[in-house]
Amino acid sequence: MNNTEKLSINQTDGLPLFSQILPEQIVPAVTQAIKNNKALIEKTLATDIPFTWDNFINVLDEADDHLGKLWSPVSHMNAVVSNDQLREAHDACLALFAEYGTFVGQHKGLYQAYLSIAESEQFACLKTEQKKVINDALRDFKLAGIALTESKQKRYGEIKQQLALLQSQFSNNVMDATLAWSKLITDINELDGLPESAVAAAEQAAQEKQKQGYLLTLEFPSYLPVITYAKNRSLREEVYTAFSTRASDQGPNAGEFDNSDIIDEVLALRHELALLLDFSDFSEYSLATKMAETPDQVITFLTELAEKSRPQALQERDQVLAFAKQMDNLDELQAWDLSYYSEQLKQHRYAISDETLRPYFPENKAVSGLFAVVKRLFGLTIKESFDFDSWHEDVRFFHIYDQQQTHLGSFYLDLYARAHKRGGAWMNDCRVRRRLVNGELQLPVAYLTCNFTKPVGDKPALFSHDEVITLFHEFGHGLHHMLSKIESSAVSGINGVPWDAVELPSQFLENWCWEPQALALISGHVESGETLPAELLEKMLAAKNYNSALMMVRQLEFSLFDFVLHHQYKPENGSQVQSVLTDIRAKVAVITPPEFNRFQHSFSHIFAGGYAAGYYSYKWAEVLSADAFSRFEELGIFNAETGQEFLQAILEKGGSEEPMALFKDFMGREPKIDALLRHCGIE
Ligand SMILES: [Zn+2]
Repeated sequence: MNNTEKLSINQTDGLPLFSQILPEQIVPAVTQAIKNNKALIEKTLATDIPFTWDNFINVLDEADDHLGKLWSPVSHMNAVVSNDQLREAHDACLALFAEYGTFVGQHKGLYQAYLSIAESEQFACLKTEQKKVINDALRDFKLAGIALTESKQKRYGEIKQQLALLQSQFSNNVMDATLAWSKLITDINELDGLPESAVAAAEQAAQEKQKQGYLLTLEFPSYLPVITYAKNRSLREEVYTAFSTRASDQGPNAGEFDNSDIIDEVLALRHELALLLDFSDFSEYSLATKMAETPDQVITFLTELAEKSRPQALQERDQVLAFAKQMDNLDELQAWDLSYYSEQLKQHRYAISDETLRPYFPENKAVSGLFAVVKRLFGLTIKESFDFDSWHEDVRFFHIYDQQQTHLGSFYLDLYARAHKRGGAWMNDCRVRRRLVNGELQLPVAYLTCNFTKPVGDKPALFSHDEVITLFHEFGHGLHHMLSKIESSAVSGINGVPWDAVELPSQFLENWCWEPQALALISGHVESGETLPAELLEKMLAAKNYNSALMMVRQLEFSLFDFVLHHQYKPENGSQVQSVLTDIRAKVAVITPPEFNRFQHSFSHIFAGGYAAGYYSYKWAEVLSADAFSRFEELGIFNAETGQEFLQAILEKGGSEEPMALFKDFMGREPKIDALLRHCGIE
């Protein structure tokens, strides 16, 4: 390791030097930074003068910010340009972070110092955001076991460390299982029904592996067109089977990357953790940091939505079945038939398909249209920068400015699916807005990551309407992070925003993808430049709520499964995953998946990510976002005044106040479920 290499990962003043980070630098750099932070904590605490925001909280916060900026490119690159060395270094650091988190969380001196500020006279003079930081910290200290006896604290640390490793293994198994299966098709007739773009992508995937023909994989952009369009029923069944059994004891790679034991271990450890902290189960522990208050409140909320949606979902299912019977004389819908016949019926009814729409959403139009929408809505200007270091040649970089041309923040945009990039779409923070100890303002930077179909040959990438919605969704998260006016990192941007409120801005922004005035900005035919024709839009709007109740009950099935699984967990009952799932499906689902289905084995949101006993958050936040958007429906979707109110009440405030208070500031009342059901076309 030479000196320049040593420097690159520690270069946290400017933007990360992704291209220069070497896997072997990571563990030493993180180890050193954590060591420095621990020393700083002890040094800062060893004083007789009273603790204040400036001499205590901001000083330690800056050290943590340094560590965060060092780690952010590593964890990001592990997700988007993963390789064995990087993964190994990344995973080795997880244990270090878990240990550091426990050290901080259970540091009685730190806790006492926060408590002394909370109880001092100066507390009343602090800014709202600073008070929130301190109150949240005290809450988190309690959740981190500050009140535990020494032996229980030790066990707490062990559990956290084991959980971090297990969750990472879960995620790795899903990625490995996804990569492990592929199918080479040599006879193009087998792909009958697939859109041209999907066939071309499969051909390109084969070429990249020096093969002749068409390569189908389990990456989502390959899987989705097959399950939706392939006429060949046995091909659909084969691909469905491989996809829905990833990382499990079933299917073509049964047992090879099996997450079964990991799931059981994770549940047992989470339950033990909750009990240690005096909660009766993990769902209660989860709610301690959320907008929702009790498990019953969540279960009632989900059950009510399910009861309102299920009758319509049954009707929608029966209509698909009747159509399959009429079309192909099918007597029963299998799980691998539903998407296909749903799409067929949708086309029959509305003569519209995702593929008809793709040419209207070329990448440049969709992206510049998105920027035009937020300009009209919030007065933002977005400019591309070409002077930046990157982890991949496909990545772009942008700066955001307000009406006064003040630079607010920046973001990386990484749009296309590729091998060794984790699936799905997400926004993550590269750095957070905060006031530095030297008085300067650090501006926020975000990663916006999607997995859209890559351009084929020299044609531009053409997005499906769903992909455009995904882009808006992640950008909504990005705005929440980048438009923050908060200067304390713990509640700046999306920090400190509870999971069940954090989807408000993202789902809110999706609404513009359905509005004629906005579609005029984000669509433009790849050949003619023509914006989306009114007749197509009318059909889209008619199709918008097609099978919405079916989709609703599916999301409710996932949400209830996650929540009830954690709520009802009893260690003495052994593995409860399948029985809970069966039970929930009996109440909510309208399609029973085959016995071999193991969707839960790749349900990374709850077994590898932060959505454990919190997947309901999506629906909870949909209620908030639909409700908030109803104000724009009343006053005009580009009403700049309402835009400014949303900006100031929600986006700029981040986690600095309770989400219910912010929501009421904007709406003037508590949220109602009506707008969501109306938007979904559910009676
Ligand atoms: Zn989201």
